[in-house]
Amino acid sequence: MRKHADLLEAFSALVMLHSGGMQVERADVLVSEEFVESASLTPEEIYAQVFRTMRPRTPVPLIHVTFRRYANASAKVKLEAGVLEVRIADTLAGAPDGVMEALAEILLSKLFRRPVPAHSNERYRRYLNRRDVRRNLDLVRQIRGRKQVEEPQGACYNLNQIFEELNFHYFHGLMARPILGWSPNASRTMLGHYDPSHNAIVLSRILDRPQAPRVAVEYVLFHEMLHLRYPAEHRGARRCVHTKAFKNAEKHFERLTEAREALRQL
Ligand SMILES: [Zn+2]
Repeated sequence: MRKHADLLEAFSALVMLHSGGMQVERADVLVSEEFVESASLTPEEIYAQVFRTMRPRTPVPLIHVTFRRYANASAKVKLEAGVLEVRIADTLAGAPDGVMEALAEILLSKLFRRPVPAHSNERYRRYLNRRDVRRNLDLVRQIRGRKQVEEPQGACYNLNQIFEELNFHYFHGLMARPILGWSPNASRTMLGHYDPSHNAIVLSRILDRPQAPRVAVEYVLFHEMLHLRYPAEHRGARRCVHTKAFKNAEKHFERLTEAREALRQL
């Protein structure tokens, strides 16, 4: 094993931008502008683009971006052995491309010891100050602080793995992965829930045991993924969670009868 400590010291930059201490002032016009942007680039493509702009004569290194379960909206970058390693809080996974680009500009500026462009700082901070983003970060912090959601890797099943399989099979691999985790308590009444304000799917710990067949876990997770795909409809004061489109989509689950039977047995 090589010792990375020195390299790390020399080449790493750490940005911790908490939403808490910042100004609350914001413009709603900017919010809608950011909402219409679509995520057309992968995070790796965004970093490659920013790298090329900052270092036009340096070949773009291998870029690896991962989203981690940090409690805060933090991000780290390091360049080591020709690989640019970027780690970003998973709470930022849904940020629009423009915000991701601003974050890339901030991180790479720090890495190359250059002044951070004011517009990048502005853009990133403005995003963190958005009411919905702040709320989401607060809730994630609360939840993780109180440990109401535990890691996706359970004793029997890995929710990230099952999510990716279902995503590939039923959603053309296009669904952005929310925060996934097991509940600390083995609830029988609530087998799973999707919380849009946390962008989190939590499954009851009761499903993470050998008596629970995998198909049952798959079905509950699939159901919660459909909540992501088909958001609740609001008609006046009424709120419909399982819309007609939702119910039709749910019928596509291939082992529906078997899964429902397994859940009854639990
Ligand atoms: Zn439901």
